[in-house]
Amino acid sequence: MKIAIPAFVALCCLASTARSQQVAPATYQAIELKNLNQSVKPTDNFYDFAVGNWVKNNPVPASKSSWFSFNELYDHNRKVVKEVVMEAAAANAPKGTNTQKIGDFFKTAMDSTRLNQLGATPLKPYLDQIDQIKDADGVLSTFIFLKKHDLAGVYNFSVDPDDKNSSKYIPGFGQGGLGLPDRDYYIKTDAPTVAIREAYVKHISIMLQLAGQPKAQADAAAAKILKLETTLAIASMDRVTMRDPYATYHKMTLTDFTKNSPGIDWSVQLQQLGVTGADSILVAQPEFFKKLASMISSEPVATWKEYLKWKLVSSTASSLSDAFQNENFAFYGKTLIGAKVQEQRWERLTSIIDNSMGEALGQEYVKRAFPPAAKVRMLELIKNLKLAFAERIQALDWMSAATKVKALKKLNSIMVKVGYPDKWIDYSKLEIISGDNFGNYMRGREFDYNRNIARYGKPVDRTIWDMTPPTVNAYYNPGFNEIVFPAGILQPPFFDFKADDAVNYGAIGAVIGHEMTHGFDDQGRQYDDQGNLKDWWTKEDAVKFKEKADRVVSQFNTYTVLDTVHVNGKLTLGENLADLGGTMIAYQAFKKTAQGKSDVKIDGFTPDQRFFLGFSQVWRGNITAQSQAVRIKTDPHAPGKWRVIGPLSNNPDFYKAFNVQPGDAMYRKDDVRARIW
Ligand SMILES: [Zn+2]
Repeated sequence: MKIAIPAFVALCCLASTARSQQVAPATYQAIELKNLNQSVKPTDNFYDFAVGNWVKNNPVPASKSSWFSFNELYDHNRKVVKEVVMEAAAANAPKGTNTQKIGDFFKTAMDSTRLNQLGATPLKPYLDQIDQIKDADGVLSTFIFLKKHDLAGVYNFSVDPDDKNSSKYIPGFGQGGLGLPDRDYYIKTDAPTVAIREAYVKHISIMLQLAGQPKAQADAAAAKILKLETTLAIASMDRVTMRDPYATYHKMTLTDFTKNSPGIDWSVQLQQLGVTGADSILVAQPEFFKKLASMISSEPVATWKEYLKWKLVSSTASSLSDAFQNENFAFYGKTLIGAKVQEQRWERLTSIIDNSMGEALGQEYVKRAFPPAAKVRMLELIKNLKLAFAERIQALDWMSAATKVKALKKLNSIMVKVGYPDKWIDYSKLEIISGDNFGNYMRGREFDYNRNIARYGKPVDRTIWDMTPPTVNAYYNPGFNEIVFPAGILQPPFFDFKADDAVNYGAIGAVIGHEMTHGFDDQGRQYDDQGNLKDWWTKEDAVKFKEKADRVVSQFNTYTVLDTVHVNGKLTLGENLADLGGTMIAYQAFKKTAQGKSDVKIDGFTPDQRFFLGFSQVWRGNITAQSQAVRIKTDPHAPGKWRVIGPLSNNPDFYKAFNVQPGDAMYRKDDVRARIW
């Protein structure tokens, strides 16, 4: 449910007006005029107008596959994180402290000479173990071993709150096992997809060779692995279907799960996974597990053994020698998403440490980069946005009074988290040993897994965070009915102390509105104020909502990227609804501020115009063609350009601010224009 960008349109005089009325250059510009492309009419392509020059002047760096405001800011945050790890590495801190762990993790992983000497040696005991497998039980136990180290396996498993009873944890199983980003990659027969598949098979073979297999054997294994993954892909549910929370909610007893997927005794599996005493479980895709169970006996054990080796090697590559890391990048970084060179080692490592010990790093990050005043200001903005959203709900002409009462109850129950957790993860049980890079990596993954399953049987902990503090993102969690904003995103261009309200309400305000609206999008609206999957809508209101949402689906289906490839209106619906609602709510909140009520121009732009410019600069960016191709299949967010153009071309306040008229490209006729919240 995270955020992301779009553009177009219309009128004649705005650009020139903006220039002619420009005031003396200020020393600080929250909207930097050099980023605008004022040769384009804002009414024809607002994205290009607002950020066109930024886009032209900020190509994707060689080591990246995309370069958006998010990446730019993350790069900035990573420098702070680098300071933290470098200081920890130099500190010689007492054994067992977070500082020792961060420092030793980093130092050990930076020692490429040692990693290159070791080569595939760290994998050997695990590969030997796989060689010992004699039957289906051995295969299943090894899946469990991979799962318990949070490494890629053949299915997903975790303990989470029950969607229909959010105060209770329940173990849940979901489909998995694919090495390519989506089932489409195994099924489609167009030339680019076939080329990626061919490169994937070569990549699997090279990785197996690096792990010690002769080429002929590795080639043969890679072909079999692709075939096996293809069978799993065909049995997998597609992403659009998975947007329906009822389609992925199947509560059953372990006995029923075993009956559903004969050949696997799930009570034995669950016990081996470390969870005991569960009377029922959730299965997201029963059909997938039915197929998997049949494959456990129909596929030769020898093929499964090759598959297990591939999963082990692939998911640990980042902790091995350069040969493994380079080949992993060659396929997943270069071929698949179009980066030209790998990020520097320290950059890759900070991401790995953020993944393994993110809240230990995060504690230091917020001390250095997150002023308490930012939290105070954010809470005030959120409060104003909530008020504006409540007013809009009350004023809706299409929703019944009965549903409004419940919608308002849900809105007022939204829990808010800003900056960093009140309660940090305790890493005392995680051992980080100097000189043991592979072990550190494996223990980090295992620690995460154990922390997750240890929840089972305990009261649901609503204080936890799904993102670490330096993360440049935000989320809505429907199960907790909460909105969460890590410290990492609370900086320019999202949130700027020096900026006027128009810019902040347009940027972080729209982000807050986006996350709030997720509670009322096609998925989120199906959860109640306590985070339970439960219908609180009258039938008529639900029908009206769906009609309105369908307009957004049709609108985005018409947007293209990469020649004939279209945005998937259904896949991106939730995010598009959140963008549409987010900008409207943020604008209404902005209009309550002193600047919102004034018409004093800054740099030639009215407060309302600055609001929409502030909104757009959040979504500026570039992306490689390869990465765009992957995202169009997998990302529930539309491309950045359409995230500006899409919502604004439905927004009457935007029309007013820039005098959008019929005939302008940003103009949508009233009978197709979407308005929900
Ligand atoms: Zn979102």
